[in-house]
Amino acid sequence: MERIILLCLVSTCLSAIHAQKFLFSPKWGPVGYKEREENEGTAMDEIIKANGFQASRIIDGTTTLRDGDIAVSSGRRSKVCFARSCLWSKSVDGHVYVAYRLSTDYSEMETKMIKKGMESVEKGTCVRFVPRTHERDYVDIQPKSGCWSYLGARGGRQTVSLQSPGCLRVGVISHEFMHALGFVHEQSRFDRDKYVTIMWPNIWRDRLRNFEKFKTDNLDLPYDYGSIMHFGMFAYSQDGSPTIIPKNNQNSKDIKLGQASSLSHIDKMKINKLYKCGGKDDY
Ligand SMILES: [Zn+2]
Repeated sequence: MERIILLCLVSTCLSAIHAQKFLFSPKWGPVGYKEREENEGTAMDEIIKANGFQASRIIDGTTTLRDGDIAVSSGRRSKVCFARSCLWSKSVDGHVYVAYRLSTDYSEMETKMIKKGMESVEKGTCVRFVPRTHERDYVDIQPKSGCWSYLGARGGRQTVSLQSPGCLRVGVISHEFMHALGFVHEQSRFDRDKYVTIMWPNIWRDRLRNFEKFKTDNLDLPYDYGSIMHFGMFAYSQDGSPTIIPKNNQNSKDIKLGQASSLSHIDKMKINKLYKCGGKDDY
């Protein structure tokens, strides 16, 4: 009798192990991103994690998320911004001042981190973030649910959501500010198929639209695999297989997609070109 009980226990244990494997195997475990073994994930990997795999893409009744983290209102204004960037105005001194209001819900440490994200955008570009005094147009930084931003300057107050924790990494913060400045994801460029292959069958079916192309103005700049705005190789993967791979060429194995914590050199050039800041390095 004891033997039978023992056998039963062993078999229960085995099936529990089996069930665990089933639950946590790459095929069935949480999907949508894959941690890199050696390096940090990309900024977008963090964003996908924070915004949740099953989370609703609807922020409120009239605002939805597009491409994973770009807020779009059902009003006409944001559609125009998608077709061509809506720019922040440039000051006579050559800088682009982006006024901001920071939620008082952030701790001192969190505030420091957000300011680091701002500095990462400011360094080598003509953009300057300034605390709002009277400006009509400004970004309202709030710890709402998820990491997201509207695209470009919408006029008036516009929210940038940096949830705490989850979005308070320098890379994530600068990624969202890049959206606010008017940039879409790098692999949304109209000419991206020359540089990367989208592995459509590997993408979580629900998120296929996140890989759309747009009629972007590429500002005569080369395709930037290492942009802070590039999806990582496993973005929205349904089974752990790559969803974007660099096109075959001699160096394709060395190419890393995306960036963890800082703007790439080309990202900075993009800002300076879009805002006609001359591309000087001495801002
Ligand atoms: Zn994004």
